[in-house]
Amino acid sequence: MIGSFTFESLPCRIVFGSGTIGAAKAEVERLGGKRAMVLTTPELVSQGTALGASLGELYGGIFSSAEMHTPVDVTLKALAAMESIKADLVISVGGGSATGLAKALALRTGVSQLCIPTTYAGSEMTPILGETRDGLKTVVRNLSVLPKTVIYDVDLTMSLPVTLSATSGMNAIAHAVEALYARDRNPVITFMAEDGIRAMAHALPGIKANPDSKEARTAALYGAWLCGACLGNVGMALHHKLCHTLGGTFDLPHAETHTIIIPHALAYNAPAVPEAMMRLARALKTDDPVLGLYGLARQLDAKMALRDLGMPEAGIDKAADLSVSTPYWNPRAIDRDSVRDLIARAWLGAVPSRR
Ligand code: NAD
Repeated sequence: MIGSFTFESLPCRIVFGSGTIGAAKAEVERLGGKRAMVLTTPELVSQGTALGASLGELYGGIFSSAEMHTPVDVTLKALAAMESIKADLVISVGGGSATGLAKALALRTGVSQLCIPTTYAGSEMTPILGETRDGLKTVVRNLSVLPKTVIYDVDLTMSLPVTLSATSGMNAIAHAVEALYARDRNPVITFMAEDGIRAMAHALPGIKANPDSKEARTAALYGAWLCGACLGNVGMALHHKLCHTLGGTFDLPHAETHTIIIPHALAYNAPAVPEAMMRLARALKTDDPVLGLYGLARQLDAKMALRDLGMPEAGIDKAADLSVSTPYWNPRAIDRDSVRDLIARAWLGAVPSRR
């Protein structure tokens, strides 16, 4: 049944397809940019440079030292590069790390952003920026960091290694899972979440079977867009709180941590969210969405245990304490013992428990 809801449509132009990076120059002009700075991670310099060349006289230069979790010291270096180039627009090419840097620059300068994502992290669709200073991650939610235009080009994702595709895709699914039971959910986002999970969950095994499958890669990128929109529009719950805490405290890799935690967080919330479970069962084509997600990660050869990401066993109690100290809203009440049990099982890589 549809109840009362509030839905705010976020202003963002999407250009989706194959070869769409060819539209970058026209999109820069559309945004009124006269001098663009390209932002990438070191691994994607050649893609960034090629993009720069395609911009002709609108290309100002490249900054290729974006890092995961958007460290402020890197942002300050990029800011200096932006000033010396006199850039009035930034173009991020890469995963959430490149997107995060563009957002950090937009927050400080108001510069327009054109975002060209090459993973499934979904940051390009959110007005959220997580920054790290002295090892501490803080999150800002501000419309000024939402990219104005996003170009999704499936061709740029063809090189995403299968293991990264798997965890990045599971990261996207996690956004949509929590959107299905968000306190501020609404029919539009629920629809996008279910379709995003369906598209991604079916694309990922296809990518594993054939990494060159354009059909599977296109479905995954479409799913990433929908799942990212979910993250940008509604509030997240226990799963994102746990991943935020674990990533920040033990410096665990972002997408891999999401991949491990999501079946456990869903198992915890399952008794409180029957409608979300029904939609998940439909999207994942399974009677048991918890085991469906756990099995999907296994099938994709993802790491299943936090200990395999380098988290020390002694950290389980610390993570449990931190997770319950300033909890996010959650559909099921949170108690420390249950959360500790959840983290301990995820640390071991055990099958999720519905205690
Ligand atoms: P990432 O951007 O660090 O990319 C992971 C690695 O893959 C990097 O080495 C990158 O160079 C490489 N890579 C990216 N695309 C590639 C491609 N097509 N081919 C080959 N290699 C490629 O990782 P991520 O998981 O995309 O993003 C994680 C970051 O994004 C974290 O900092 C996280 O906090 C942030 N994030 C933010 C939001 C938000 O809404 N603010 C949402 C999701 C993620």
